[in-house]
Amino acid sequence: MKLPPSARTQGIEPSPTLALDARAKAMKAEGRQVVNLAIGEPDFETPEHIRQAAIKAIKDGFTRYTPSEGILPLREAMAEKFRVENGLEYPPADIVVTNGGKHALYNAMQALFGPGDEVIVPSPYWVTYPAQILLSGATPVYAPTSPERGYVLGPEELERAITPRTRGLILNSPSNPTGMVATRSDILALGEVLRDRPIWVISDDIYEKLLYDGEEFANIAMCCPELRDRTIICHSLSKTYSMTGWRIGFLAAPKEIARIVKDIQSQMTSNPCSIAQKAALAALTGTQEPLQKMRGVFDRRRKLVLGLIKKIPGFATTATPKGAFYVFPDASGLMGKTLGGTTIASSEDLASVLLKECEVASVPGSAFGQEGSLRFSYAASEKEIVNGFERIANFLAPAESPPPSEDKGWLKRAMP
Ligand code: PMP
Ligand code: GLU
Repeated sequence: MKLPPSARTQGIEPSPTLALDARAKAMKAEGRQVVNLAIGEPDFETPEHIRQAAIKAIKDGFTRYTPSEGILPLREAMAEKFRVENGLEYPPADIVVTNGGKHALYNAMQALFGPGDEVIVPSPYWVTYPAQILLSGATPVYAPTSPERGYVLGPEELERAITPRTRGLILNSPSNPTGMVATRSDILALGEVLRDRPIWVISDDIYEKLLYDGEEFANIAMCCPELRDRTIICHSLSKTYSMTGWRIGFLAAPKEIARIVKDIQSQMTSNPCSIAQKAALAALTGTQEPLQKMRGVFDRRRKLVLGLIKKIPGFATTATPKGAFYVFPDASGLMGKTLGGTTIASSEDLASVLLKECEVASVPGSAFGQEGSLRFSYAASEKEIVNGFERIANFLAPAESPPPSEDKGWLKRAMP
C-alpha cells in the first residue's frame, strides 16, 4: 500500500540555491572548469581565533548538551550586540541561539503563523521564505517591488498586500537577492502602515554587516520602538564571520515568543552544537578585524561586477546593490532569443544555458519570484568573477537574434 506524505509538505521543493550549488560542485568534481556564482557563501576561511575557540572547546570536553536556548555567555554577548550596535535592549532570556539563521526563521514562523494566516513577502524574496511560511500552514502573499525604486518596499505596496487575514510581514535588508538596503525613512513609512494593525514583523538581519557606499543599517525595531513588541529579529553568524558550516543563528523576540521558540527548539533539535556555540562566542566578543577586511573585499568585487555586467549584451542593472553580496541584473532582453540552440523562454532556461555553454553557475530570478532576472553571488575570487563574466559576455556577444518572440507566456507565468 502506497501512503501519501502529509498535505503540509505538498509543494515543498528543495532550496534552489543549495540545489544549484550542489550541481555546480558536481560538475567541478567531474573536472569541468565551472565558475560558481550561484551560492551565497563567503569564500573566506572562518577566522583563526574562532577556529581556535572550537578546538579549545573540544579539548576542554565542552561536548555535552547545553541549555536548548544556548549557553548564557553567548546569549549575553548577543544581548550586548543588540544594545551597542542597534540600541535595542533584550535580556538574554529573550534571545534564542538556533541552528543557523534558517532555523531562527523557521522557529519564528512556527511560533507565529498557522492555517488561514497570510504572510506578506516583498518580492523578489529569498527562496526559503515561501517554503517556511507554507510549512507553518500559512499562505505567502507577495508584495512586488521594482528595480526603478531600488526594490524598496513602499507603503503603498505594503498596504495593497494587506487583507483581514494578514498576520505577518517579512523584511530583509540588506536583501538577498537584490542587495537593496532600506533606509530609516523607508522603514518609518512601513511602520506608519503597520502601527494600528495586528501584524507580526520578522526582520531577517543576516546581512547587517555587509553594507557599502556609506549605507547605514536599520531595522523596524530600531526605527519604530512602538513595533518592537511585534518584531522578531532573526540573525546568523554564517555570513558575518564566514561560518556557514557551523550552523549558529539567533533570534530576539518579545518574551512570550522567545519562550515558545525555546520550547519548540527543546522538542525539535535541543541545543545548537556546543562546540560551535563556543566558536560563536569568540566571534562576537573577539576582534572584528577579519569582518572589516572581508567587507572591503566584497565592496571591491561589487564594483568590479557592476563594471563587468555593463559590458554584457542583454543585462541591465537599474538598481545598484548596496549590501549583501549579490547582483540581480535584469536579463529580460534575452527572452525569446536562441542561445546555444535553445530558445530562451525563462530565466531558468537562461541560467541553464549559461551553465552548459559557459560553465558559469547563477540562480534564475524565478527562484526569487522575479522572472527575467538572474542572481549572481560575488562571494567568489576576483579572478573567478572576471573569468565568469567574460565567458558570458563572449558567449552573448554574437548571439543569434531572431525577431523577439511575441510569446509573453514566461512573463505571465512569473506573476506571483
Ligand atoms: N536569510 C537570508 C536572507 C539568507 O540569504 C540566508 C542564507 N543562507 C539565510 C537567512 C540563512 O543563513 P544560515 O542558515 O546559513 O545562517
Ligand atoms: N542564502 C544563501 C543563498 O541564497 C545560501 C543558500 C541557502 O541557504 O539557501 O545562496
